[in-house]
Amino acid sequence: MSKQKYAVFTMDVEAFTDTECISASSENVNVDLLDGLDEYIKILDKHSIKCTLFTVGSLAPKIADKLKKAISSGHKLALHNFEHIAPMDVSPEVFKEKTLKAKQTLSDMFGTEISGFRAPYFSLDNKRLEILKELGFKYDSSNLGFSKARHTVNLDLSNFKEHTEGIFSDNGFFEFSMSRQKIFGMPYPISGGGYVRLSNWGFIKGLIKQYLQRNDYYVFYLHPFELTKQKIPVLKDLKSYDKYYLQSGISSYKKHIEQLIVMLKNLGYEFVTFEELYEKMSKSV
Ligand SMILES: [Zn+2]
Repeated sequence: MSKQKYAVFTMDVEAFTDTECISASSENVNVDLLDGLDEYIKILDKHSIKCTLFTVGSLAPKIADKLKKAISSGHKLALHNFEHIAPMDVSPEVFKEKTLKAKQTLSDMFGTEISGFRAPYFSLDNKRLEILKELGFKYDSSNLGFSKARHTVNLDLSNFKEHTEGIFSDNGFFEFSMSRQKIFGMPYPISGGGYVRLSNWGFIKGLIKQYLQRNDYYVFYLHPFELTKQKIPVLKDLKSYDKYYLQSGISSYKKHIEQLIVMLKNLGYEFVTFEELYEKMSKSV
């Protein structure tokens, strides 16, 4: 029998106003578009998939009912920083103090262990990764491995053991990287975000398929606004790329995500949360 293949579906649970081009602008936006979280859970429930929800610490109490419902049906809660800011924009001391507080608050509020972390903008260095270990996190998923992305820091994982492409561990702590496939010899992110939604679907689907056929681990991520049923406000003062980022590919994204799920199923992938994958990988070490 061939090696087991794992797909992990995740969401970075943040308000529409946390989107960088909006938070950095002077636009006055008063919608959070968090109904996209409910839409995501609906799609996943239809396919019996459990996901990991990387949630902004300061947002979690405001959507406690949604999160409690998701947790009670088997989805997992993890941390997307204490606020939606790049960890690299605060000192290691502040990062440590506020992340610990957010971890404890969420754990108490939801009665569940918070063992995973993903940095906003994939902006995490090795010093802050060490802090996550010290605080008792079991895994991180902030390694995008695409230096062209703004804010992104390439983690140095040379001291980690690579179990399979994208999964690394060091003394029981795991780094679950985002997935990449080479185009003209250059690794390109294929795990979601704008990289998948804004690309020509036939092209990116083919690229993901190439990756899936030769690998055994894939991770997908998106944000609530990308699945909202509400109208995404047109913000006239944004740059044209940012307007494009906020609107393009939204109407067909649900359909494309379902096609991706079918492709993963057909290629023999098992859907797990990061928490389950951590347990499986820890046993195999
Ligand atoms: Zn984010």
